[in-house]
Amino acid sequence: MPTIDIHLHILDPADLRPWAREYVQASSGEEIEDRWQMMRSPELLVQMLHDNGVDYGVVLSEISPITTGVVSNETVAEFCAGQGALIPFANINPSMVANPARELERCVVEMGFKGLKLYPTYQGFFANDSIVYPLYAKAQELRIPVMIHTGSSVFRGARLKYGDPLWMDDVAVDFPDLSLIQVHGGRGFWYRRAFLLARLHRNVYLEIAGLPPQKLLEYFPELEKIADKIIFGSDWPGLRSIRANIDAIRSLPLSERTKSKILGENAACLLRDVLPGT
Ligand SMILES: [Zn+2]
Repeated sequence: MPTIDIHLHILDPADLRPWAREYVQASSGEEIEDRWQMMRSPELLVQMLHDNGVDYGVVLSEISPITTGVVSNETVAEFCAGQGALIPFANINPSMVANPARELERCVVEMGFKGLKLYPTYQGFFANDSIVYPLYAKAQELRIPVMIHTGSSVFRGARLKYGDPLWMDDVAVDFPDLSLIQVHGGRGFWYRRAFLLARLHRNVYLEIAGLPPQKLLEYFPELEKIADKIIFGSDWPGLRSIRANIDAIRSLPLSERTKSKILGENAACLLRDVLPGT
């Protein structure tokens, strides 16, 4: 089974808000210059992933000019082109596009995107707002998974109320054939809520990027009950070491099968039409 990191950012310091730039610098430490380089070179990024024991990485677009910055869909598509190990996920900011569903179709059909990520806390909408429903309908039709930021954020201007995973409950009910991923597992206030949604809904998953892996069983004591739903992501470059997080998951008191599901099997299942030979 491959190891898959479903949560990577490629950032250009010139396109980031100052506090986002400072955050990347603080999480990267003395590696910062190397990391800015890796985020400009797909070959270097893939090498870094392999050095950390990761076979495939999902690269995320983000169009949040007020709260974090902009990584356009064009940038991510171009970065991932021809790199079998990199899987691009688009972002549509629903307040900045006249016809979000048509834009998503363009991203997937013409630009090769394999999934969608939404940023309610950074872009100011509730996950069940009517403004986003056409995106879900289109994603369901195109059979691509949708990642949705849940929980806290340290960036200025982010609004926590939009990060409650409960807003995804309506979406899970209204789009039963759409795979929905709760990014950061409801970080902060809502771990139990995120766990319950993943347990209740066949189509809802729980992603653990940005959570200290050694605390996973504290946040989700019954994690093994949703072993088929937990997905590993690193939020690189927002952490010191991907390998250290993978090792920490490997040393948790969980069955080997569960660890293998978290570190790649579950994501491979979601991305089965995308990954060669899985
Ligand atoms: Zn992230």
